[in-house]
Amino acid sequence: MRKLFLAPALLALVLAVLVAPSSQSAFNAEGHGTSAVELAAAPADVLSEGPSAAAWPVPNARTYRILSSCSPYASAIRTGARAWSGLTESSSGTPVECRNGYITDCGGGSRVVGCNWGAGQRIALYMGGVNDDALLAAHEFGHNWYGHSSYQCAGWGSAAQVMAPAICNYSSATTID
Ligand SMILES: [Zn+2]
Repeated sequence: MRKLFLAPALLALVLAVLVAPSSQSAFNAEGHGTSAVELAAAPADVLSEGPSAAAWPVPNARTYRILSSCSPYASAIRTGARAWSGLTESSSGTPVECRNGYITDCGGGSRVVGCNWGAGQRIALYMGGVNDDALLAAHEFGHNWYGHSSYQCAGWGSAAQVMAPAICNYSSATTID
């Protein structure tokens, strides 16, 4: 009987996290950090690749620009950007920089691999800390509008899955035929 009451409450929580814009960070420009965690195997519901034509709806159109430090990852960043409709490149867009180590100026968290300051003021990515560069980019772009969902690990299955609080790096030791 308790589960009947719990389920709608959990659903409401998920929706609240997704719908609530990062209004607080928009005002104080505090970073929104994303951590990397190591797991032995991917859950069955995590897709290994992005949908070919994913363009999840967003509240408003935004733009970004890839800085020179991200040149080696430009393709992955553009793939990640295509996860969101109305997100395009522009010379006046959110600057996206790439780091060579974990991000320590994001305002907390350990092993932070991505940060979005001020909901789109600027974005930093540490591609060396994740197995899926495009997913990390998609996630940080998602912070232009959204906070974290209640999923444990980020994945390509839905906008909410992209917005999980962690990018999970799965061991290749679980490969099967
Ligand atoms: Zn995040």
